[in-house]
Amino acid sequence: MKILMVASECYPFAKSGGLGDVLGSLPAALRKLNLDVRVVLPAHASIAEEYRQRMEPAGSFRVKLGWRDQGCDLAVSEYGGVPFYWIGNGYYFGRDDLYGYYDEAERYAFFCRAVTEALSHIDFSPHLIHAHDWQSALVSVFLRTLDAWKEELAGIPVLQTVHNLQYQGQFSGEILEDILGLGGSPEAAARLDQDGNVNFLKGGLCYADAVSTVSRSYAGEIQTPFYGEGLHTVLAGRPVHGITNGIDERFFDPLRDPMIAHRYRTPGGKRPNKEHLQRTVGLPVSPDVPLVAIVSRLVAQKGWDLVERVLPTLLEEDLQMMVLGSGERRYEELFLSMAQRYPSKAAACIHYDEALAHQIYAAADLLLMPSLFEPCGLSQMIAMRYGCLPVVRETGGLRDTVQPYDAGSGAGNGFSFPNYNAHDMLFTVQRALALYREGAPWKRLAAQAMRGDFSWEKAAGEYRNLYASMLTQEE
Ligand code: ADP
Repeated sequence: MKILMVASECYPFAKSGGLGDVLGSLPAALRKLNLDVRVVLPAHASIAEEYRQRMEPAGSFRVKLGWRDQGCDLAVSEYGGVPFYWIGNGYYFGRDDLYGYYDEAERYAFFCRAVTEALSHIDFSPHLIHAHDWQSALVSVFLRTLDAWKEELAGIPVLQTVHNLQYQGQFSGEILEDILGLGGSPEAAARLDQDGNVNFLKGGLCYADAVSTVSRSYAGEIQTPFYGEGLHTVLAGRPVHGITNGIDERFFDPLRDPMIAHRYRTPGGKRPNKEHLQRTVGLPVSPDVPLVAIVSRLVAQKGWDLVERVLPTLLEEDLQMMVLGSGERRYEELFLSMAQRYPSKAAACIHYDEALAHQIYAAADLLLMPSLFEPCGLSQMIAMRYGCLPVVRETGGLRDTVQPYDAGSGAGNGFSFPNYNAHDMLFTVQRALALYREGAPWKRLAAQAMRGDFSWEKAAGEYRNLYASMLTQEE
Protein backbone atom coordinates (compact mmCIF):
# COMPACT_ATOMS: atom_id res chain seq x y z
CA MET A 1 0.00 0.00 0.00
CA LYS A 2 1.34 3.43 -0.94
CA ILE A 3 0.13 6.17 1.41
CA LEU A 4 0.83 9.90 1.27
CA MET A 5 0.31 11.71 4.58
CA VAL A 6 -0.31 15.44 4.46
CA ALA A 7 0.24 17.58 7.56
CA SER A 8 1.47 20.97 8.71
CA GLU A 9 3.78 19.69 11.45
CA CYS A 10 5.92 16.69 12.30
CA TYR A 11 8.40 16.17 15.14
CA PRO A 12 11.41 16.83 15.09
CA PHE A 13 11.04 19.31 12.21
CA ALA A 14 8.09 21.40 13.40
CA LYS A 15 5.76 20.82 16.34
CA SER A 16 3.18 22.84 18.22
CA GLY A 17 1.29 19.99 19.90
CA GLY A 18 0.04 16.42 19.70
CA LEU A 19 -0.32 16.54 15.88
CA GLY A 20 3.46 16.94 15.58
CA ASP A 21 4.00 13.95 17.89
CA VAL A 22 1.65 11.73 15.87
CA LEU A 23 3.34 12.58 12.55
CA GLY A 24 6.70 12.00 14.23
CA SER A 25 5.80 8.39 15.10
CA LEU A 26 2.95 6.98 13.02
CA PRO A 27 4.63 6.93 9.55
CA ALA A 28 7.58 4.89 10.85
CA ALA A 29 5.23 2.53 12.73
CA LEU A 30 3.27 1.96 9.49
CA ARG A 31 6.44 1.39 7.47
CA LYS A 32 7.31 -1.39 9.92
CA LEU A 33 4.08 -3.04 8.72
CA ASN A 34 5.45 -2.83 5.16
CA LEU A 35 3.34 0.10 4.00
CA ASP A 36 5.13 2.61 1.79
CA VAL A 37 4.20 5.71 3.80
CA ARG A 38 5.58 9.11 2.80
CA VAL A 39 4.86 12.53 4.28
CA VAL A 40 4.41 15.93 2.66
CA LEU A 41 4.92 19.06 4.79
CA PRO A 42 5.43 22.81 4.35
CA ALA A 43 9.15 23.73 4.36
CA HIS A 44 8.76 26.02 7.39
CA ALA A 45 11.66 28.43 7.91
CA SER A 46 11.74 27.42 11.59
CA ILE A 47 12.97 23.90 10.74
CA ALA A 48 16.47 23.44 12.22
CA GLU A 49 19.40 23.90 9.86
CA GLU A 50 20.61 20.29 10.35
CA TYR A 51 17.35 19.06 8.77
CA ARG A 52 17.20 21.78 6.10
CA GLN A 53 20.66 20.80 4.88
CA ARG A 54 19.40 17.31 4.07
CA MET A 55 16.61 18.59 1.79
CA GLU A 56 17.42 17.97 -1.90
CA PRO A 57 15.74 20.13 -4.57
CA ALA A 58 13.24 18.07 -6.61
CA GLY A 59 11.83 20.55 -9.13
CA SER A 60 9.65 23.64 -9.31
CA PHE A 61 6.14 24.28 -10.59
CA ARG A 62 3.44 26.98 -10.54
CA VAL A 63 0.38 26.88 -8.28
CA LYS A 64 -2.85 28.72 -9.16
CA LEU A 65 -4.75 30.10 -6.19
CA GLY A 66 -7.76 32.13 -7.25
CA TRP A 67 -6.26 34.89 -9.41
CA ARG A 68 -2.80 34.30 -7.95
CA ASP A 69 0.01 32.40 -9.63
CA GLN A 70 2.62 31.32 -7.10
CA GLY A 71 5.82 29.30 -7.36
CA CYS A 72 6.49 26.10 -5.45
CA ASP A 73 9.96 24.65 -4.89
CA LEU A 74 9.70 20.98 -4.11
CA ALA A 75 12.38 19.23 -2.04
CA VAL A 76 12.85 15.70 -0.73
CA SER A 77 14.65 14.18 2.24
CA GLU A 78 14.62 11.07 4.38
CA TYR A 79 14.52 10.81 8.16
CA GLY A 80 14.25 7.70 10.31
CA GLY A 81 13.58 5.63 7.19
CA VAL A 82 10.59 7.81 6.13
CA PRO A 83 10.71 9.78 2.84
CA PHE A 84 9.56 13.40 3.14
CA TYR A 85 8.41 15.85 0.45
CA TRP A 86 8.73 19.55 1.25
CA ILE A 87 6.49 22.27 -0.18
CA GLY A 88 8.70 25.35 -0.45
CA ASN A 89 7.57 28.93 -0.86
CA GLY A 90 9.47 31.70 0.94
CA TYR A 91 6.51 34.09 0.94
CA TYR A 92 4.16 31.68 2.73
CA PHE A 93 6.50 29.58 4.86
CA GLY A 94 9.56 31.79 5.37
CA ARG A 95 8.23 32.82 8.76
CA ASP A 96 9.24 32.21 12.39
CA ASP A 97 6.04 30.48 13.53
CA LEU A 98 3.86 27.74 12.09
CA TYR A 99 0.56 29.56 12.67
CA GLY A 100 -0.94 32.84 13.81
CA TYR A 101 -0.61 35.04 10.71
CA TYR A 102 -3.25 37.30 9.14
CA ASP A 103 -3.14 35.33 5.87
CA GLU A 104 -3.56 31.86 7.35
CA ALA A 105 -6.29 30.92 4.84
CA GLU A 106 -4.03 31.76 1.89
CA ARG A 107 -0.99 29.99 3.37
CA TYR A 108 -2.72 26.66 3.95
CA ALA A 109 -4.87 26.87 0.81
CA PHE A 110 -1.57 27.27 -1.07
CA PHE A 111 -0.13 24.29 0.80
CA CYS A 112 -3.05 22.00 -0.16
CA ARG A 113 -3.15 23.23 -3.75
CA ALA A 114 0.60 22.69 -4.05
CA VAL A 115 0.21 19.15 -2.65
CA THR A 116 -2.33 18.14 -5.31
CA GLU A 117 -0.13 19.76 -7.99
CA ALA A 118 2.92 17.96 -6.61
CA LEU A 119 1.23 14.61 -7.30
CA SER A 120 2.04 15.17 -10.98
CA HIS A 121 5.68 16.03 -10.21
CA ILE A 122 6.82 13.34 -7.77
CA ASP A 123 7.86 9.77 -8.54
CA PHE A 124 5.23 8.38 -6.19
CA SER A 125 1.63 7.51 -7.02
CA PRO A 126 -0.21 7.02 -3.72
CA HIS A 127 -3.09 4.57 -3.49
CA LEU A 128 -4.55 6.71 -0.68
CA ILE A 129 -4.04 10.16 0.84
CA HIS A 130 -4.23 10.65 4.59
CA ALA A 131 -4.86 14.32 5.49
CA HIS A 132 -4.46 15.61 9.05
CA ASP A 133 -6.48 18.48 10.56
CA TRP A 134 -7.77 21.67 8.94
CA GLN A 135 -4.44 22.76 7.48
CA SER A 136 -4.54 19.76 5.12
CA ALA A 137 -8.32 19.51 4.74
CA LEU A 138 -8.49 21.26 1.35
CA VAL A 139 -6.59 18.41 -0.31
CA SER A 140 -9.79 16.37 -0.75
CA VAL A 141 -11.71 19.53 -1.70
CA PHE A 142 -9.29 20.38 -4.53
CA LEU A 143 -8.97 16.75 -5.69
CA ARG A 144 -12.74 16.50 -6.18
CA THR A 145 -13.25 19.99 -7.69
CA LEU A 146 -10.43 21.80 -9.49
CA ASP A 147 -8.49 18.56 -10.14
CA ALA A 148 -11.55 16.41 -10.94
CA TRP A 149 -10.58 16.33 -14.65
CA LYS A 150 -7.22 14.67 -13.90
CA GLU A 151 -7.95 11.01 -14.49
CA GLU A 152 -4.86 9.76 -12.64
CA LEU A 153 -6.00 11.47 -9.42
CA ALA A 154 -9.71 10.75 -9.62
CA GLY A 155 -9.61 7.38 -7.91
CA ILE A 156 -7.38 8.25 -4.95
CA PRO A 157 -9.45 8.01 -1.74
CA VAL A 158 -8.78 10.48 1.09
CA LEU A 159 -8.88 9.81 4.82
CA GLN A 160 -9.38 12.96 6.89
CA THR A 161 -8.21 12.72 10.52
CA VAL A 162 -9.39 15.18 13.17
CA HIS A 163 -6.87 15.71 15.96
CA ASN A 164 -8.88 18.43 17.72
CA LEU A 165 -12.27 19.54 16.40
CA GLN A 166 -11.95 22.92 18.11
CA TYR A 167 -9.52 24.05 15.42
CA GLN A 168 -11.32 24.20 12.06
CA GLY A 169 -9.75 26.95 9.94
CA GLN A 170 -12.72 29.32 9.53
CA PHE A 171 -12.36 32.39 7.34
CA SER A 172 -14.58 35.04 5.79
CA GLY A 173 -16.85 33.98 2.91
CA GLU A 174 -15.12 36.01 0.17
CA ILE A 175 -12.06 33.75 0.14
CA LEU A 176 -14.17 31.05 -1.56
CA GLU A 177 -13.53 32.71 -4.93
CA ASP A 178 -10.67 35.08 -4.13
CA ILE A 179 -8.32 32.42 -2.72
CA LEU A 180 -9.80 29.00 -3.39
CA GLY A 181 -11.15 29.82 -6.87
CA LEU A 182 -14.31 27.83 -6.11
CA GLY A 183 -16.90 30.61 -6.42
CA GLY A 184 -18.35 28.92 -9.52
CA SER A 185 -19.20 25.67 -7.75
CA PRO A 186 -22.47 25.69 -5.78
CA GLU A 187 -21.68 22.23 -4.43
CA ALA A 188 -18.28 23.31 -3.08
CA ALA A 189 -19.82 26.51 -1.71
CA ALA A 190 -22.41 24.51 0.24
CA ARG A 191 -19.91 21.99 1.54
CA LEU A 192 -17.40 24.62 2.72
CA ASP A 193 -19.99 27.04 4.07
CA GLN A 194 -20.65 27.49 7.74
CA ASP A 195 -22.88 30.44 8.64
CA GLY A 196 -21.54 32.46 5.71
CA ASN A 197 -17.90 31.63 6.46
CA VAL A 198 -15.58 29.26 4.66
CA ASN A 199 -14.68 26.35 6.96
CA PHE A 200 -11.68 24.33 5.72
CA LEU A 201 -12.26 21.36 8.01
CA LYS A 202 -15.95 21.13 7.14
CA GLY A 203 -15.00 21.03 3.45
CA GLY A 204 -12.48 18.27 4.14
CA LEU A 205 -14.98 16.24 6.16
CA CYS A 206 -17.59 16.52 3.39
CA TYR A 207 -15.26 15.59 0.53
CA ALA A 208 -13.12 12.94 2.27
CA ASP A 209 -14.01 9.30 1.69
CA ALA A 210 -13.57 8.42 5.38
CA VAL A 211 -13.12 10.31 8.63
CA SER A 212 -11.20 9.32 11.71
CA THR A 213 -10.20 10.82 15.02
CA VAL A 214 -7.74 9.98 17.76
CA SER A 215 -9.78 7.95 20.24
CA ARG A 216 -12.91 5.85 20.21
CA SER A 217 -14.72 7.93 22.84
CA TYR A 218 -13.98 11.23 21.08
CA ALA A 219 -15.26 9.70 17.82
CA GLY A 220 -18.65 9.25 19.47
CA GLU A 221 -18.58 12.54 21.36
CA ILE A 222 -17.98 14.76 18.33
CA GLN A 223 -21.23 13.52 16.81
CA THR A 224 -23.13 15.23 19.66
CA PRO A 225 -23.94 18.95 20.04
CA PHE A 226 -21.89 19.36 23.26
CA TYR A 227 -18.58 18.21 21.77
CA GLY A 228 -19.35 18.76 18.08
CA GLU A 229 -18.07 22.37 17.89
CA GLY A 230 -20.87 23.23 15.45
CA LEU A 231 -20.00 20.32 13.11
CA HIS A 232 -21.90 17.50 14.82
CA THR A 233 -24.55 17.46 12.10
CA VAL A 234 -21.81 17.00 9.49
CA LEU A 235 -20.34 14.10 11.46
CA ALA A 236 -23.44 12.41 12.81
CA GLY A 237 -24.84 9.63 10.69
CA ARG A 238 -21.55 8.66 9.08
CA PRO A 239 -18.89 6.37 10.51
CA VAL A 240 -16.16 8.22 12.41
CA HIS A 241 -13.31 5.82 13.12
CA GLY A 242 -11.65 6.25 16.52
CA ILE A 243 -8.01 5.15 16.63
CA THR A 244 -6.21 5.93 19.88
CA ASN A 245 -2.75 7.45 19.55
CA GLY A 246 0.31 5.81 21.05
CA ILE A 247 3.41 7.43 22.53
CA ASP A 248 7.03 7.05 21.47
CA GLU A 249 8.05 4.45 24.05
CA ARG A 250 11.76 4.87 23.29
CA PHE A 251 11.68 8.64 23.85
CA PHE A 252 9.54 8.30 26.98
CA ASP A 253 11.36 5.54 28.84
CA PRO A 254 12.33 5.97 32.51
CA LEU A 255 15.00 3.29 32.08
CA ARG A 256 16.84 5.13 29.28
CA ASP A 257 15.73 8.77 29.43
CA PRO A 258 18.85 10.99 29.33
CA MET A 259 16.84 14.01 30.49
CA ILE A 260 16.02 12.69 33.97
CA ALA A 261 18.35 12.72 37.01
CA HIS A 262 18.06 9.02 37.92
CA ARG A 263 16.90 6.26 35.58
CA TYR A 264 14.61 3.59 37.00
CA ARG A 265 12.65 0.46 36.31
CA THR A 266 10.18 0.42 39.25
CA PRO A 267 8.21 3.13 41.10
CA GLY A 268 10.78 3.03 43.94
CA GLY A 269 13.22 4.72 41.54
CA LYS A 270 11.12 7.87 41.49
CA ARG A 271 12.30 8.96 44.95
CA PRO A 272 15.72 10.42 43.95
CA ASN A 273 14.03 12.10 40.96
CA LYS A 274 11.54 13.76 43.31
CA GLU A 275 14.35 15.02 45.56
CA HIS A 276 16.20 16.34 42.52
CA LEU A 277 13.14 18.17 41.19
CA GLN A 278 12.29 19.63 44.61
CA ARG A 279 15.84 21.01 44.84
CA THR A 280 15.74 22.33 41.25
CA VAL A 281 12.47 24.25 41.62
CA GLY A 282 12.98 25.37 45.23
CA LEU A 283 10.36 23.22 46.97
CA PRO A 284 11.17 21.71 50.41
CA VAL A 285 13.10 18.46 49.82
CA SER A 286 10.75 15.85 51.19
CA PRO A 287 10.43 12.64 49.16
CA ASP A 288 7.53 11.32 51.25
CA VAL A 289 5.17 14.20 50.46
CA PRO A 290 2.94 13.36 47.45
CA LEU A 291 3.77 15.52 44.45
CA VAL A 292 0.86 16.49 42.18
CA ALA A 293 1.90 17.71 38.71
CA ILE A 294 0.39 19.60 35.81
CA VAL A 295 2.26 19.49 32.46
CA SER A 296 0.02 21.08 29.87
CA ARG A 297 -1.07 23.88 27.67
CA LEU A 298 -2.83 26.31 30.00
CA VAL A 299 -6.07 26.66 28.03
CA ALA A 300 -9.75 26.28 28.99
CA GLN A 301 -9.99 22.88 27.24
CA LYS A 302 -7.76 21.34 29.91
CA GLY A 303 -10.13 22.02 32.82
CA TRP A 304 -8.16 24.59 34.84
CA ASP A 305 -11.43 26.29 35.86
CA LEU A 306 -12.07 23.28 38.10
CA VAL A 307 -8.64 23.60 39.71
CA GLU A 308 -9.16 27.34 40.23
CA ARG A 309 -12.45 26.68 42.03
CA VAL A 310 -10.95 24.37 44.69
CA LEU A 311 -7.28 25.38 44.76
CA PRO A 312 -7.18 26.68 48.38
CA THR A 313 -8.85 23.48 49.65
CA LEU A 314 -6.52 21.34 47.56
CA LEU A 315 -3.50 23.10 49.03
CA GLU A 316 -4.70 22.40 52.58
CA GLU A 317 -3.83 18.76 51.88
CA ASP A 318 -0.39 17.43 52.77
CA LEU A 319 1.01 17.65 49.23
CA GLN A 320 3.18 19.66 46.85
CA MET A 321 2.09 20.97 43.43
CA MET A 322 4.29 21.50 40.40
CA VAL A 323 2.94 23.23 37.29
CA LEU A 324 4.70 23.39 33.91
CA GLY A 325 2.79 25.04 31.10
CA SER A 326 1.95 28.12 29.14
CA GLY A 327 -1.07 29.48 27.34
CA GLU A 328 -3.89 31.80 28.35
CA ARG A 329 -2.83 34.61 30.64
CA ARG A 330 -5.54 34.02 33.24
CA TYR A 331 -4.34 30.48 33.94
CA GLU A 332 -0.67 31.47 33.85
CA GLU A 333 -1.46 34.10 36.50
CA LEU A 334 -3.52 31.64 38.53
CA PHE A 335 -0.59 29.24 38.89
CA LEU A 336 2.06 31.95 39.30
CA SER A 337 0.10 33.52 42.15
CA MET A 338 -0.40 30.05 43.69
CA ALA A 339 3.38 29.56 43.71
CA GLN A 340 3.91 33.01 45.24
CA ARG A 341 1.33 32.54 47.98
CA TYR A 342 2.30 28.98 48.91
CA PRO A 343 6.08 28.81 48.26
CA SER A 344 6.53 25.80 50.55
CA LYS A 345 3.85 23.82 48.71
CA ALA A 346 3.72 24.93 45.09
CA ALA A 347 5.99 25.84 42.18
CA ALA A 348 5.13 27.01 38.67
CA CYS A 349 7.24 27.26 35.51
CA ILE A 350 5.38 29.14 32.79
CA HIS A 351 7.17 28.17 29.60
CA TYR A 352 7.80 25.17 27.32
CA ASP A 353 10.61 22.91 28.55
CA GLU A 354 10.88 19.34 27.24
CA ALA A 355 13.60 18.26 29.72
CA LEU A 356 11.78 19.69 32.73
CA ALA A 357 8.60 17.94 31.57
CA HIS A 358 10.43 14.58 31.63
CA GLN A 359 11.87 15.38 35.08
CA ILE A 360 8.39 16.16 36.37
CA TYR A 361 6.88 12.91 35.02
CA ALA A 362 9.78 11.03 36.67
CA ALA A 363 9.35 12.84 40.01
CA ALA A 364 5.59 13.29 40.43
CA ASP A 365 3.13 10.86 42.00
CA LEU A 366 -0.04 12.25 40.43
CA LEU A 367 -0.75 14.06 37.15
CA LEU A 368 -3.84 16.24 37.11
CA MET A 369 -5.74 16.34 33.79
CA PRO A 370 -9.39 17.30 34.41
CA SER A 371 -10.11 18.17 30.75
CA LEU A 372 -13.44 19.56 29.56
CA PHE A 373 -12.75 17.58 26.37
CA GLU A 374 -9.72 15.61 25.25
CA PRO A 375 -9.43 14.11 21.75
CA CYS A 376 -6.75 11.66 22.91
CA GLY A 377 -4.23 13.20 25.30
CA LEU A 378 -0.62 12.10 25.48
CA SER A 379 0.40 13.46 28.88
CA GLN A 380 -1.61 10.87 30.81
CA MET A 381 0.07 8.03 28.87
CA ILE A 382 3.53 9.51 29.36
CA ALA A 383 2.80 9.93 33.09
CA MET A 384 1.75 6.27 33.45
CA ARG A 385 4.92 5.14 31.72
CA TYR A 386 6.90 7.01 34.42
CA GLY A 387 4.80 5.55 37.27
CA CYS A 388 2.98 8.84 37.85
CA LEU A 389 -0.74 8.09 38.20
CA PRO A 390 -3.14 10.30 36.27
CA VAL A 391 -6.28 11.89 37.76
CA VAL A 392 -8.52 12.56 34.76
CA ARG A 393 -12.03 13.46 33.81
CA GLU A 394 -13.72 10.64 31.92
CA THR A 395 -13.80 12.20 28.47
CA GLY A 396 -12.40 11.32 25.04
CA GLY A 397 -9.04 9.59 25.06
CA LEU A 398 -8.70 10.02 28.82
CA ARG A 399 -11.65 7.70 29.27
CA ASP A 400 -10.16 5.19 26.82
CA THR A 401 -6.66 5.05 28.31
CA VAL A 402 -7.13 5.52 32.08
CA GLN A 403 -8.76 2.64 33.90
CA PRO A 404 -9.87 3.90 37.34
CA TYR A 405 -8.45 2.10 40.38
CA ASP A 406 -10.73 -0.59 41.74
CA ALA A 407 -10.06 -1.11 45.46
CA GLY A 408 -11.68 -4.57 45.42
CA SER A 409 -9.61 -6.17 42.67
CA GLY A 410 -6.64 -3.79 42.71
CA ALA A 411 -7.09 -3.30 38.94
CA GLY A 412 -6.53 0.04 37.23
CA ASN A 413 -3.84 2.52 36.23
CA GLY A 414 -5.12 5.84 37.58
CA PHE A 415 -8.13 7.72 38.93
CA SER A 416 -11.08 9.34 37.19
CA PHE A 417 -14.34 11.21 37.73
CA PRO A 418 -17.26 11.50 35.30
CA ASN A 419 -18.71 15.01 35.63
CA TYR A 420 -17.09 18.34 34.88
CA ASN A 421 -17.35 19.35 38.52
CA ALA A 422 -14.67 20.86 40.78
CA HIS A 423 -15.63 18.92 43.89
CA ASP A 424 -15.78 15.59 42.05
CA MET A 425 -12.20 16.33 40.99
CA LEU A 426 -11.20 17.33 44.54
CA PHE A 427 -12.68 14.16 46.08
CA THR A 428 -10.92 12.04 43.47
CA VAL A 429 -7.56 13.63 44.30
CA GLN A 430 -8.29 13.08 48.01
CA ARG A 431 -9.07 9.40 47.36
CA ALA A 432 -5.80 9.07 45.48
CA LEU A 433 -3.87 10.75 48.32
CA ALA A 434 -5.44 8.34 50.83
CA LEU A 435 -4.16 5.41 48.76
CA TYR A 436 -0.74 7.06 48.51
CA ARG A 437 -0.55 7.13 52.31
CA GLU A 438 -1.23 3.40 52.44
CA GLY A 439 2.10 2.76 50.70
CA ALA A 440 2.11 -0.79 49.31
CA PRO A 441 -1.12 -0.72 47.23
CA TRP A 442 0.01 2.60 45.72
CA LYS A 443 3.32 1.12 44.61
CA ARG A 444 1.50 -1.86 43.10
CA LEU A 445 -0.82 0.45 41.16
CA ALA A 446 2.07 2.61 39.92
CA ALA A 447 3.95 -0.51 38.80
CA GLN A 448 0.83 -1.69 36.99
CA ALA A 449 0.52 1.66 35.20
CA MET A 450 4.19 1.45 34.11
CA ARG A 451 3.55 -1.92 32.47
CA GLY A 452 0.73 -0.59 30.24
CA ASP A 453 1.08 -0.89 26.46
CA PHE A 454 0.95 2.58 24.89
CA SER A 455 3.07 1.74 21.86
CA TRP A 456 2.23 2.84 18.31
CA GLU A 457 2.00 -0.71 16.98
CA LYS A 458 -1.66 -1.15 17.88
CA ALA A 459 -2.72 2.16 16.31
CA ALA A 460 -0.63 1.47 13.20
CA GLY A 461 -2.41 -1.88 12.74
CA GLU A 462 -5.80 -0.17 13.00
CA TYR A 463 -4.84 2.49 10.43
CA ARG A 464 -3.62 -0.24 8.08
CA ASN A 465 -6.97 -2.01 8.38
CA LEU A 466 -8.86 1.22 7.78
CA TYR A 467 -6.76 2.03 4.67
CA ALA A 468 -7.32 -1.52 3.39
CA SER A 469 -11.09 -1.27 3.85
CA MET A 470 -11.16 2.11 2.04
CA LEU A 471 -9.21 0.67 -0.88
CA THR A 472 -11.50 -2.35 -1.19
CA GLN A 473 -14.52 -0.07 -1.28
CA GLU A 474 -12.91 1.88 -4.12
CA GLU A 475 -12.49 -1.18 -6.32
P1 ADP B 1 -2.32 18.78 23.51
O1 ADP B 1 -1.87 18.16 22.21
O2 ADP B 1 -3.78 19.12 23.57
O3 ADP B 1 -1.47 19.92 23.95
P2 ADP B 1 -1.49 16.24 24.68
O4 ADP B 1 -1.64 15.67 26.05
O5 ADP B 1 -2.00 15.44 23.54
O6 ADP B 1 -2.14 17.69 24.70
O7 ADP B 1 0.06 16.53 24.39
C1 ADP B 1 0.78 17.42 25.17
C2 ADP B 1 2.26 17.16 24.99
O8 ADP B 1 2.97 18.38 25.17
C3 ADP B 1 2.82 16.19 26.03
O9 ADP B 1 3.95 15.54 25.44
C4 ADP B 1 3.28 17.12 27.15
O10 ADP B 1 4.28 16.55 27.95
C5 ADP B 1 3.81 18.27 26.33
N1 ADP B 1 3.78 19.58 27.01
C6 ADP B 1 2.70 20.37 27.26
N2 ADP B 1 3.07 21.53 27.84
C7 ADP B 1 4.42 21.47 27.97
C8 ADP B 1 5.42 22.37 28.49
N3 ADP B 1 5.10 23.56 28.98
N4 ADP B 1 6.71 21.98 28.43
C9 ADP B 1 7.04 20.77 27.93
N5 ADP B 1 6.17 19.88 27.43
C10 ADP B 1 4.88 20.24 27.43
